[in-house]
Amino acid sequence: MQALLGADYPAFERSLCEAPPVSVRVNDKVPLAPSADRVPWCGAGYYLAQRPVFTLDPLLHGGAYYVQEASSMFLAQAVGQHFPQAARVLDLCAAPGGKSTLLAQCLPDTSLLVSNEVIRSRAAILAENMAKWGNANTLVTNNKPADFAALPGWFDVLVVDAPCSGEGMFRKDVQAVDEWSPRNVDMCAARQCDILREAWPALKPGGVLVYSTCTYNRQENEDNVAWTCRELGAERLSIDLKGRTDIVETEGGYHFYPHRTRGEGFFLSVMRKWEDAPLPRPSKPARFKGVREQPWRGALPLPLRAGREWAALCDGDRVTAYPADLKEDMRLAEKTWHVVQAGVSLGRTKGRDFVPDAAAALSKALDSGAVASVEVDGETAIAYLRRDNLTLPDAPKGYVLVRYRGLPLGWVKNLGNRCNNLYPQEWRIRMR
Ligand code: SAM
Repeated sequence: MQALLGADYPAFERSLCEAPPVSVRVNDKVPLAPSADRVPWCGAGYYLAQRPVFTLDPLLHGGAYYVQEASSMFLAQAVGQHFPQAARVLDLCAAPGGKSTLLAQCLPDTSLLVSNEVIRSRAAILAENMAKWGNANTLVTNNKPADFAALPGWFDVLVVDAPCSGEGMFRKDVQAVDEWSPRNVDMCAARQCDILREAWPALKPGGVLVYSTCTYNRQENEDNVAWTCRELGAERLSIDLKGRTDIVETEGGYHFYPHRTRGEGFFLSVMRKWEDAPLPRPSKPARFKGVREQPWRGALPLPLRAGREWAALCDGDRVTAYPADLKEDMRLAEKTWHVVQAGVSLGRTKGRDFVPDAAAALSKALDSGAVASVEVDGETAIAYLRRDNLTLPDAPKGYVLVRYRGLPLGWVKNLGNRCNNLYPQEWRIRMR
């Protein structure tokens, strides 16, 4: 770091002993302005004066905001300046979902966002966070980078927020300090090249690559950008910093340092794949899962917002609604990759009943004014999110949407004298 920063080094070292700033990025589900202290490079980002117990805030569980380190919100600038209208975007290393929820927020809802995570348990957390964020134009996959070569040139944008040595996380995450070694840096750099090379065929010629890490060293940043440009065939694109001098531009990209900007260490680079890059032949699709073939007949089992056409399909008893304009793309993805979640999961038919899914309650596509709902106070909301038994004497009978400050949290089946709590077991709050 002394070699990289020169005279700036003592200030950097001091900043490592300071408390990391707390920041969130707000969704557009309910009006929310958590502070007057805005993250300068992301319109939806806010700093908080203190760290609340986020787990005990129902608004977090309802997807009203996402807790995200401020520097990484710089991705919003890459979207706005280089691909504001991209049709298909692949976020390759997406769990737990910070960059993907940001992409969902910045892209138009006619774009298709594929959020992928290779580790299965982390893909489940990603799916949970994406469901809570609530965009219908997204799907979550659990695949290896090489699996995306099955559809060469399919994506307009590839985001690789690579697994890295985490030097920028040292003051937030002690484990990152313990795990650091020169050998680990070498291993991370080599793995990052593997990931880029394997997924590269999926990006169309002329398409945009965003490469980011939360580390400082040249090997994982500048060297890998140079390698990508030289070996894979790309040119670097610049981001207009709009006069900011605290973000440091090098020949490889943009660095965030904790002594210069309010956030953790972060590096981001944008590249364009050569227009004349050859398209390789498709590799064999992974084909993990069957396709949902049966169209749903009649009216949708849950009301979805007008202004968009929906195509509902059944897979056994499960009913999923796809935005009609994205249905073909989503079904092709389901044939090709291991899709964990796509479109809006509406629920399950059970005899003559329809049991709605939590994802439908949390989806921005639900016409929530057209379903039975009940507003609860903070304490009841937490009890609901813990999956405790509730009695809601003022609520209508049957399936009822539970709201806190207007924000949908999930469903109960109100039987009158008690409610069946339909909040997913695996999402429940365990903290007491
Ligand atoms: N983009 C995420 C966000 O903003 O919330 C953070 C991603 S984290 C820096 C890197 C991710 O890459 C991890 O979820 C990790 O499981 C995944 N990963 C690890 N090894 C990988 C590999 N060989 N190929 C692809 N992804 C990998």
